[in-house]
Amino acid sequence: MSLSVARFAVTRTTVGLTGGVQLPVEFHVFPADSAKAAATLAVVPAILRYFDQQIGPYPFPDEKYAIAEFGRPSFREGQTITHLGPPLITGGAGAEQVVAHEIAHQWFGNALTVASWSDIWLNESLSEYMAWRWIRSARGDAAFRALVDSARVAPVAAPIVPASPADFNSLFGNATFQRGPAVLVKLEALIGSAAFESALRRYVHAHRHGVVRTADFQRACEEASGRPLDGFFADWVRGTRPL
Ligand SMILES: [Zn+2]
Repeated sequence: MSLSVARFAVTRTTVGLTGGVQLPVEFHVFPADSAKAAATLAVVPAILRYFDQQIGPYPFPDEKYAIAEFGRPSFREGQTITHLGPPLITGGAGAEQVVAHEIAHQWFGNALTVASWSDIWLNESLSEYMAWRWIRSARGDAAFRALVDSARVAPVAAPIVPASPADFNSLFGNATFQRGPAVLVKLEALIGSAAFESALRRYVHAHRHGVVRTADFQRACEEASGRPLDGFFADWVRGTRPL
């Protein structure tokens, strides 16, 4: 849990989502950053609508989605609220990928919770993959390809899903944030975008407000595509086969 206490300048709006949901969206920022926050966070409603359509209904329709500024040079998501530090609230669009990643955690991490630290890629790699999808939707294919290409060559020391999560810090490195989303792009290319998008929705819907393991995600991909994927997951998810 986290608690932020400050004199915030508060902006409130609502975003229309699927099923007639009118979701309250709130920004709580330091008053001196109000103008910059309005520019940096203007994209939030569009990202919420995009994920709501792509992944399935926003998981907390009776609650809200909020962003709160906090006094750290970092960012953290929490259930229905994301904390962003002052370096992210620049007045420009430079934080868009981070903002999208943290919003995606409302589905991957909050609606669905991993059963084990070894499965943390189900939170992080899927959220980063969705951030890349948003970049592709908003900025085009070249920006998306640049993200994929840089991730493909990032050095990784361990599999995305380690046999044992002995080294906690290794769980939050390149394997999770670079290789993981790149492997998801590869999987999408293998089974086709329609099957992959169906798999995402199937996986989220089946395990909404539940606990998940990597086998649950693999099964959703196999059911949506009609293909056995043991080899793919052994080579690229539990193994370190080069991309
Ligand atoms: Zn994350």
